[in-house]
Amino acid sequence: MQLLIYNTLTRMKEPFEPLTPGIVRMYVCGPTPYDHTHIGHARTYVAFDLIRRFLEFEGYTVIHVMNITDIDDKILRKARETVGLEKWKEIPDKYSKEFFEVLDKMYVKRPHYAPRVTEHIEDIVKTISILIDKGYAYVSQGSVYFEVDKYSRYGQLSKITRRESWRQEMDVVAEKKKPYDFALWKRAKPGEPYWNTPWGPGRPGWHIECTVMGSKYLGVQFDIHGGGQDLIFPHHENEIAQAEACYDVHPWVKYWIHIGYLTIKGEKMSKSLGNIIPVQEVFSKYDPLVLKLYLISAHYRTPLDFSWDALNHAAATYNKIENFTKTIIGYLRDEEPPSSVGEDVAKDVMKISVEREKFLESLREDFNTSKAMAHLHTVINFVNRRIVENRLSYPLAVKTLEFMREFNEITGLLEKVLVPVSSEEKFTELMKLIVELRNIHRRAKNYELADWIRGKLSEIGIKLIDQKDKTIWVLEH
Ligand code: AMP
Ligand code: ZN
Repeated sequence: MQLLIYNTLTRMKEPFEPLTPGIVRMYVCGPTPYDHTHIGHARTYVAFDLIRRFLEFEGYTVIHVMNITDIDDKILRKARETVGLEKWKEIPDKYSKEFFEVLDKMYVKRPHYAPRVTEHIEDIVKTISILIDKGYAYVSQGSVYFEVDKYSRYGQLSKITRRESWRQEMDVVAEKKKPYDFALWKRAKPGEPYWNTPWGPGRPGWHIECTVMGSKYLGVQFDIHGGGQDLIFPHHENEIAQAEACYDVHPWVKYWIHIGYLTIKGEKMSKSLGNIIPVQEVFSKYDPLVLKLYLISAHYRTPLDFSWDALNHAAATYNKIENFTKTIIGYLRDEEPPSSVGEDVAKDVMKISVEREKFLESLREDFNTSKAMAHLHTVINFVNRRIVENRLSYPLAVKTLEFMREFNEITGLLEKVLVPVSSEEKFTELMKLIVELRNIHRRAKNYELADWIRGKLSEIGIKLIDQKDKTIWVLEH
């Protein structure tokens, strides 16, 4: 089956065909870093990580851009309350660093470019000048506004057709031609940072940065653009209006993807509602990958209502998946390929192939992770049953491990358990050598040294288990 993506622009699942075969240009709206990253943010970026990883798994080369909004009212307010307005840059620096560190812990792949607004002021000013020259924008009291009535496709993404519903930026309504015009450039306020332009000093409005940086790094038209659902209106609607007016293109972006809210007691998790749970708080109690597993267990478009109980459940599931993988790795370490196998073994292997295909097909259906996970569990339960029955065969284990490796490629959830194939053999040989060295010391009653080796291995997350006639090793966190 061809990959289908639900496109917010058409409200339909569409076959995915990038503008250039084999290459996917993807822009994801990044954070406004003025406070700790919360698990609502994590949901959106984990979802796009899965989307990117799956596209790569399917053979596409993905170019992934994510902006950092490093100037904004909220950032300046936070600076005023903490480090002082003159040191405002410290706020986005501090919190964007934290943002990436938090995502790294969940093995969320970093974007190829993370352009910052303040480093693209010249490009932004140029684009605004073009919009003024073309008659889509006007200057008013040192600010510049986009004149929505001049652009006929306004509302195409949000499907909001009643103009009265378009009202935005109501605090400056007196200086705009219409209540729904929005700022491209905001004139400087006393004491705040500013840049000089032909219309006077000021700083960019929020929406223009994504239009400018998206097309600077990905071209005047590109394949995927997205963020959380709250960005559909006005942010993405405005981005489209600016881009299509400036570059004379339609559609500016082919597929729009929006992630459902992470809610808590049914309400969107957001700083303004005061119901946020910082990612760091979850990490102090759970492995970061437990949170990732929890977030991808639901389909990305459905709302996900957070509870600690559900997270506990995810922790148990994560342990199950991880231990299962370790068991298969451990089994294969001591086994050799058999010269012949029975028909029942071939059937077992087929079962994994079929479930693997269903797993991938689920993801091809608009990245349906919740369905895909059900097939993963079918595999785990099936193979676990064979283990209990003492019928785990070498071919079944190999096929299963291949599948778990693919699962990891697409989710990053087994990064701590799986060693890259290319170095696995060498790593295994090296471990054999270290275990043997320790046993030589034990036999010579050199217990201090033997224990030292065991302790050092444990520090780096490798546990030795002494069995009756041999010592085995397992990877731990
Ligand atoms: P912000 O820094 O608030 O602009 O948010 C960064 C990204 O996180 C945006 O794409 C938001 O849509 C997304 N986001 C924020 N809160 C949530 C939430 N509760 N659930 C899902 N995504 C969210
Ligand atoms: Zn944006």
